[in-house]
Amino acid sequence: MGISKIGVVGAGTMGNGIAQALAVAGRDVVMMDIGEAQLKRGLDTISGSLDRLIKKEKMTPAEKAAAMGRIATVTSVPGLADCDLVIEAASENVDLKLRIFAELDSVLKPEAILASNTSSISITRLAAGTKRPSQVIGMHFFNPVPVMALIELINGLQTSAATYAAVEELARSIGKAPIKVKNSPGFVVNRMLCPMINEAVFVLGEGLATAAEIDEAMKLGCNHPIGPLALCDLIGLDVELAVMQVLYEGTKDPKYRPAPLLVEMLEAGYLGRKSGKGFFDYPAK
Ligand code: NAD
Repeated sequence: MGISKIGVVGAGTMGNGIAQALAVAGRDVVMMDIGEAQLKRGLDTISGSLDRLIKKEKMTPAEKAAAMGRIATVTSVPGLADCDLVIEAASENVDLKLRIFAELDSVLKPEAILASNTSSISITRLAAGTKRPSQVIGMHFFNPVPVMALIELINGLQTSAATYAAVEELARSIGKAPIKVKNSPGFVVNRMLCPMINEAVFVLGEGLATAAEIDEAMKLGCNHPIGPLALCDLIGLDVELAVMQVLYEGTKDPKYRPAPLLVEMLEAGYLGRKSGKGFFDYPAK
């Protein structure tokens, strides 16, 4: 099946990034969120991001106008009815996603594909909640979407080869590099990345080195572009803990137990960049 019109559910960090990447690559996008305010914020973010590309002379104002013109917005699921593929990037909550999938399943044409950008929820479980489980797949993009090349394409137990092939072709056509991954807690990247960050929090909690030293060590000793604690602040401490809990609960392997300091910092309300404080401070601009 050819994928022409693409729906994106959620206009937040990931949703607006996905919409931008698709529209810049020439795809028609319908972005959906629960209200006009969320959609406006998403569109403003895209507009600002494209303005920066214009400033760097990587895009012309006419190309920006064309890309923005390819993004329509709606505030309810039925507005996505004529999409060939819908990529769900709403908040990370299993009940919410199951509800959105059920609603999408009831309004989309039978051949349409349903994808989720979830970081941690089982694609097999999301697929089982629909009447088209073979047409459900994970499309796990990375933040910031317009910049990061990778998409993990997650095959649930029920995902068909045809669904995978259609989504893989789309991913390549928008300039992304897909990898094929079996559904499993944390998929591939988070399965390795989040325990590394969690270990950095253990190292900090045990007082082996300061936060700045830990990050410096991984930058200078391993050539990482950003230290694990600064990365945790960027991802959000809440998101890091949620992934560790999924790995821990999903495997019952104690090697994935969350670092006590991570849990305690969340109790204090330190979420990272988004709250102004995490392992480092981010004064309001
Ligand atoms: P976000 O909080 O920035 O955005 C979520 C958006 O979903 C919000 O705009 C919210 O209004 C909207 N939403 C909530 N309920 C909705 C509904 N019923 N219908 C439509 N929209 C609804 O979150 P995010 O960081 O963009 O994460 C979205 C998804 O992407 C999550 O599943 C997350 O696990 C995944 N993800 C996040 C990252 C990341 O680095 N932030 C990376 C990869 C995957």
